[in-house]
Amino acid sequence: MGQLRVHLDCERCCDMSVKILYIAGWGRSGTTIVDNILNSYDGVFSTGELFYLWTRGLLEEKRKCGCGVIFRECALWRSILDVAFGDDRPCPSHMRDLQQAAIRVRHTRALTGPTLSDEAEEYRRVTNRLYHAIAEVTGARLIVDSSKIPSAAALLPRMAGVEPYLLHMIRDPRAVTHSWMRAYRKKSLVSDPEAPAASTMHWLVRNALAERLAGDFGGRYRRLRYEDFVADPRATIEGLLAFAGVEPKSGAEPKSGAEPGNGAEPGNGAEPGNGAEPKSGVEPGNGVEPAGGGASVGGPFTGDTTVRLAVNHTIAGNPRRFHSGDVELRADDRWRTEQTAGPRLTTTALALPLLHRYGYSAGFSRRRVNR
Ligand SMILES: [Zn+2]
Repeated sequence: MGQLRVHLDCERCCDMSVKILYIAGWGRSGTTIVDNILNSYDGVFSTGELFYLWTRGLLEEKRKCGCGVIFRECALWRSILDVAFGDDRPCPSHMRDLQQAAIRVRHTRALTGPTLSDEAEEYRRVTNRLYHAIAEVTGARLIVDSSKIPSAAALLPRMAGVEPYLLHMIRDPRAVTHSWMRAYRKKSLVSDPEAPAASTMHWLVRNALAERLAGDFGGRYRRLRYEDFVADPRATIEGLLAFAGVEPKSGAEPKSGAEPGNGAEPGNGAEPGNGAEPKSGVEPGNGVEPAGGGASVGGPFTGDTTVRLAVNHTIAGNPRRFHSGDVELRADDRWRTEQTAGPRLTTTALALPLLHRYGYSAGFSRRRVNR
């Protein structure tokens, strides 16, 4: 442990290369289910939304790890923090202040400039330590960070000893709006009339910024539409692993969680869930190991559209992250039949600048697809 810290303090002499697949985009675009599937491969560890480690993970008392344990009590994350920082652990509120000062979405362009502010530099250093400690403790060959925030992604190419990959996930903005509105209605977070414009502006900004970052990642950038993922989940996920240079182990046993949960409840966070809809998942967080026999050779897929999710240790993400066990992946296209004209027209009009770029039509069919 001590040796690792010496290397990370120095950075210039660090020869440990850690592969990070960072998922960028806007919420409700299927990032959580992709994150959880990747995590179910041996040799891959998903952090969930690592950006929220300091706030939702460590400052908020009742948030749960994906394994179901109160996050601050998760043994795995305690080990990671010990390896990364020992007795020198950064104060979570200080890290939150650094994020507010220098790592917000609006700082993304500045973070790709020639020099970093003192705050951004400190945040970069701490996060790099964290990534290396995650690799050290979990033994993962690939770490998946589904924070989605472009400003945090912008720091990855600047980290010594990190081999960064950028996965940019996109979903039809009408579907995204509909998904947020359903969640808002459940939570009464904001009034419905505000949701289409707010969601679509985030969709535009997040997607435009993710594209701007592509150059910094060189050839290690891939764009993925949710609709293409759910049309062929297994081939898509295997393609992502190949993209990151990680081959599933032949004959690998199904991955299981180290410390299964103790009563996680979906929907208890501020991150409403969606993406591919699991047709049937075991009850979350009750200590289950993936049920039944072994997964198919080479990973968690038990068929082209069925997957056995391992218990995970994600920090944040939508409530679907608490699901483990058998899941059938199918397109969630309820927006086509349920969405009313107002939200649809508002979203379509605002999203027009990027709508066609991503292959979405300004019109739409109410006929369900991919069923
Ligand atoms: Zn955990």
